[in-house]
Amino acid sequence: MPIPKDLLEIMACALCKSELRLEGEELHCANAECGLIYAIKDDIPIMLIDEARRPCPKCSTQRDWNDDELKCGKCGAVFRYVRK
Ligand SMILES: [Zn+2]
Ligand SMILES: [Zn+2]
Repeated sequence: MPIPKDLLEIMACALCKSELRLEGEELHCANAECGLIYAIKDDIPIMLIDEARRPCPKCSTQRDWNDDELKCGKCGAVFRYVRK
């Protein structure tokens, strides 16, 4: 168990402040519209928005970070991110 459960409970997505789920070696934002995925390196989660992965929820293509509005280059789905 790389990350203690009590630590996981107080951690939040750096972008939308939603709670995080541990899935394998990554932390997934529980907010489906955000969907950021944070890598864990040497048992330390990398909680940086610019380092996080964000696959398209419709086609799972990697999305590029582009301010608060993102358009999937593959399926054309548009996502908005509201920074809190
Ligand atoms: Zn999030
Ligand atoms: Zn897509």
